[in-house]
Amino acid sequence: MSETTTQVDVVVLGSGCAGMMAALAAADAGATVALHEKAELLGGTTALSSGVAWLPANKYQAEHGVVDSIADGRAYLTELSQEMILPEFTEAFLETVDPMLEWVEERTPLRMRLVPGYPDYHPEFPGGLPGGGRSTEPDLFSFHELGEWAERFLGFRRSMYVGETPVGGGTGFLTPEVEQHRAEQRLEGLGRGMLGALLKGLLDHGVQVTTSSCATDLVVEDGAVVGVRFEGGAEVRATRGVVLATGGFERDPDLVRDFLRGPLRHPPGAPTNTGDGLRMAMKVGAQLGVMREAWWVPVVTIPGSDGEQYSGHGVQLVQRERTLPRTIMVNDQGRRFTNEAANYNALGGAFHTFHPTRFRYENEPAWVVFDQGFVDQYGGYGFQAGETVPDWIDRADTIPGLADVTGLPADELRATVERWNELCAQGRDADHGRGDSAYDGWCGDRAHYPSPMATLGPLDQAPFYATRVHSSALGTKGGPRTTTDCEVLDVDGQVVPGLWAVGNVMAAPTGMVYGGAGGTLGPAMVFGYRCGASVAGKPLEDEGVAR
Ligand SMILES: Cc1cc2nc3c(=O)[nH]c(=O)nc-3n(C[C@H](O)[C@H](O)[C@H](O)COP(=O)(O)OP(=O)(O)OC[C@H]3O[C@@H](n4cnc5c(N)ncnc54)[C@H](O)[C@@H]3O)c2cc1C
Repeated sequence: MSETTTQVDVVVLGSGCAGMMAALAAADAGATVALHEKAELLGGTTALSSGVAWLPANKYQAEHGVVDSIADGRAYLTELSQEMILPEFTEAFLETVDPMLEWVEERTPLRMRLVPGYPDYHPEFPGGLPGGGRSTEPDLFSFHELGEWAERFLGFRRSMYVGETPVGGGTGFLTPEVEQHRAEQRLEGLGRGMLGALLKGLLDHGVQVTTSSCATDLVVEDGAVVGVRFEGGAEVRATRGVVLATGGFERDPDLVRDFLRGPLRHPPGAPTNTGDGLRMAMKVGAQLGVMREAWWVPVVTIPGSDGEQYSGHGVQLVQRERTLPRTIMVNDQGRRFTNEAANYNALGGAFHTFHPTRFRYENEPAWVVFDQGFVDQYGGYGFQAGETVPDWIDRADTIPGLADVTGLPADELRATVERWNELCAQGRDADHGRGDSAYDGWCGDRAHYPSPMATLGPLDQAPFYATRVHSSALGTKGGPRTTTDCEVLDVDGQVVPGLWAVGNVMAAPTGMVYGGAGGTLGPAMVFGYRCGASVAGKPLEDEGVAR
């Protein structure tokens, strides 16, 4: 060993939800654990997220009168799978939900709770829950408990529950008293609240956490991974194993181009997710899976903005802004092309439709078009209802005028808006079914929910506005294939000794599916737990939890 080499049982790379869960589980099973984070700040994309975790058949449902079961969860995921979900992952996921929740609440201050009413993303499918019950969120956690670590997370303080944010049906504002109380207590919710509570658990379990520590290579001896090399040359030996929890490859343009099924532009997540773990896994011969998929989401870029609302780089998810009444999306032919209010992941499919004759993506680029009624009643893109619309958004007094400004074909755009207004007057979107699903209006006008009118409303008040919307992703889903305990498999299907992968770096256990709000963090929590126990040599199977 060189002078700079240290030794632990387990090295975890990455400090998002998946890495923290794995580190905690490994430490709790008795291993010495070192967690290394490439960025200066902890948390990755998880810290920028809402911290919602989709957990079917969870223990909180009973007190809310939600009827759910593992069988329903299985039916739902199986129906949506498109043959991309391996059945053993469905079983392992569903069977581990409650043991994971019991365990994490015993070992850390993290407390999850239901986001009541949040419908599944395809709620009318067999086993789906239109009235919600599977989306959970972290309770508020006091960062006073973290000492100096309190300042070391990516993102910014958001002391809210999901239900207080606009997406969850709230205003996004707290009363001054509540705001003051939460600020004094340094209470945080959402993604950072989740991670703060997990970090407290990690520190209490003696996990060594190091930031600004970028892993570059796995150390391999006799075909087994025995450690990690970091930028600068230092090595850490891992007697039991190394966990890749380095997030997706959405920030690496080459990997994005070469693997994904369609455009991914302006990713809103952590800038450090450049596919390092994927490359390390490829170097040791890992078998790859789900490479073409991502957690798709439409975004806008806000020029000159610090994008504070989410991630600090001017990219904002487009959720309410395509769901509320008085707004539609059109392609460069000026035509509506989808149910704008569908869940963001499924919308990826609409953006990736390829036109064989025009030989281009049919719906990328696309525009969101809205009217003054939207501005007065709802607001969006960072401005409040009734406020002045920022200059970066195109505007005109008439629809043909708006076509002129945006370069969209005027006749088509006018016909599209006329048709939309007719459909709204009829109270049903016969063209694309917007408002037909219980999910559609959830992020719309709650005064009308669950009626379709929560999302249907004409564009008939001048001026009219338009902004470009881009096909993006919260993160990618492809990576090394693993066992259900996250052991990395090689191209022959054999376990690579000493290597585990979890979170967005692994081949996603849910294939191309986003089951409901929290569809990425739910599996990250569950498989993080399974992964940590396994790398420490105490797989959950030994504890009686499903394989
Ligand atoms: C605005 C927004 C809101 C979202 N809300 C939700 C939500 O409510 N629910 C949900 O389920 N999903 C949500 N998502 C998606 C979700 O946040 C991610 O899918 C999830 O956080 C991924 O977790 P992870 O642990 O795999 O990766 P990350 O949280 O991204 O962590 C990966 C970490 O690995 C580090 N790393 C990378 N390379 C190296 C290296 N070489 N060495 C050491 N460390 C390295 C990175 O710096 C990063 O900190 C949201 C995403 C965004 C952008």
